[in-house]
Amino acid sequence: MNNVDIKSLTIEEIEQIIIKLKQPRFRAKQLFNWIHVKKISNYREMKNIPYALIDILMIDYPLIALNEVSKHEDNKDGTVKYLFELKDKQLVETVLMKYKYGYSICISSQVGCKMGCTFCASTIGGLKRQLLPSEMLDQIYVIERKMDIQIHSVVVMGTGEPLDNYDNLIRFIKLLSHEKGRHLSRRNITVSTCGIIDNINRIAIDVPQINLAISLHSPYNDKRKEIMPITIKYPLNNLIQACSYYTKKTGRRITFEYSLINGVNDDIEHGKDLAKLLKGMLCHVNLIPINSVDERDYLAADKGHILRFKEVLDKEKIPTTIRRSLGQNIDAACGQLRNRHLKDQK
Ligand code: SAH
Repeated sequence: MNNVDIKSLTIEEIEQIIIKLKQPRFRAKQLFNWIHVKKISNYREMKNIPYALIDILMIDYPLIALNEVSKHEDNKDGTVKYLFELKDKQLVETVLMKYKYGYSICISSQVGCKMGCTFCASTIGGLKRQLLPSEMLDQIYVIERKMDIQIHSVVVMGTGEPLDNYDNLIRFIKLLSHEKGRHLSRRNITVSTCGIIDNINRIAIDVPQINLAISLHSPYNDKRKEIMPITIKYPLNNLIQACSYYTKKTGRRITFEYSLINGVNDDIEHGKDLAKLLKGMLCHVNLIPINSVDERDYLAADKGHILRFKEVLDKEKIPTTIRRSLGQNIDAACGQLRNRHLKDQK
């Protein structure tokens, strides 16, 4: 038994399988269409594929499908948070958000995370495993099928560090944007990273059309080291240099995410030094009021303070927005739903 994850394969790779099975080449395109356009996870529903071939595919090339464990809807803003179970019973979270321009989905890239950011719930239990390209895709496909919608944009900002699962991430992006598949524009895909510089450089070559977001959270190397241990390996100055190079190479604006934590990174001096650090770069700052997490004792900065912080950046002509806080009533901060579910099971 081969047990190859067919949903993670390109058309060319499926063609190789089809040729080995002595079937006509066009079957590969048909299969790719069923999987990525019609988003079917059951071979039996594939009407134009011969039964004999389906029997082989079902055993050797199983189609993975995520299983919905729970769904929480925020009645106020329509945000829906899904908890999915994978084949090995691991859990991942996905959030569907509704904006004026359409639906946006926030997907997970790993089960757990090993980056150790001190304010984040996803990293508390460490990294369990990498998500396969198919498991990233299926977070989108299952929801699109169930809700009968076409998602407008995808953000890889759920649980996990996408650039710590690089090859699977790139394969996922290439499959999702493939013209014979789901064909989502790469410009509608955003990848958020805590700053793994080597792979930021690779993104600029492999998929320069996507949007890159960097979780910055402090303009000071020492302070950032305390809240984001990745800074020990990749110092802040090097990260800023890599970002500058990235914008020059791709011509694309970078988004810097800055979660304001009361008394940690939110005083006005931080704002001024953040503006200095980013001066002249093709970028945009997204201020995020921190979501308090059960296991952590950080508090959000108050509204007035966030506005004052924004004013400092505005004055220095750094384009800045404050992220609309969606899903406040449903534990929408990364990793919270999964943690709660695991606790309840004990
Ligand atoms: N690992 C990636 C993507 C996942 S986190 C990254 O670090 O960018 C997505 C964003 O949410 C990051 O900016 C992260 O720093 C932020 N974040 C994590 N926990 C948070 C919390 N409790 N409140 C606000 N933002 C949080």
